Amino acid sequence: MNRAVFLDRDGTLNYDSREYIRNLTEFRLFPTTVAALKKIQALGYKLIIITNQACVAKGLTTVAAVEEIHQFLKNTLKEKGVKLAGIYYCPHHPDDDCDCRKPKIGNVLRASREHEIDLSSSFFIGDSKRDVETGKTAGCRTILVRTGVRLNSQEEIRQWSVQPDFVTANLMAAVEFIEKFEGKSDL
Ligand SMILES: [Mg+2]
Ligand SMILES: [Zn+2]
Repeated sequence: MNRAVFLDRDGTLNYDSREYIRNLTEFRLFPTTVAALKKIQALGYKLIIITNQACVAKGLTTVAAVEEIHQFLKNTLKEKGVKLAGIYYCPHHPDDDCDCRKPKIGNVLRASREHEIDLSSSFFIGDSKRDVETGKTAGCRTILVRTGVRLNSQEEIRQWSVQPDFVTANLMAAVEFIEKFEGKSDL
């Protein structure tokens, strides 16, 4: 079985926008994303992106534009020696009641079947409560990064019904946390 670090996309790997990231020109990675992903890969985790893109169902962008971003991302990372095992996105509307829109775990389960992932030794990293819920439901350890556009205060986070195992300033700090606790089962 493999271990994975499941990653949210917008606000975790790249700058988010309150109006969605609709096309490639709006897509910009954070400065340390590539280095952070490289570190995760070196630790022996598969890299899998799990993202909600309701902007498709809302007619704000197209499947083609989303896939262009994902192809660009894969290529950019590949050039730097980082391999993405997969990108799983939900194009549906919140009202569609699909099984793949986070906090539902349809895409996580699909990815874990396709890549033989042991969820209990995997991590889920994201910038929102929804990501923490997704990771928890899937049985992963969860890390909340504070690089999104909707920043919750520590006080707000404490009141969430699900609690992240760790909160870090950004993805690089999250990776350093994983590195530090590598091999330990109790966080
Ligand atoms: Mg996000
Ligand atoms: Zn969906």
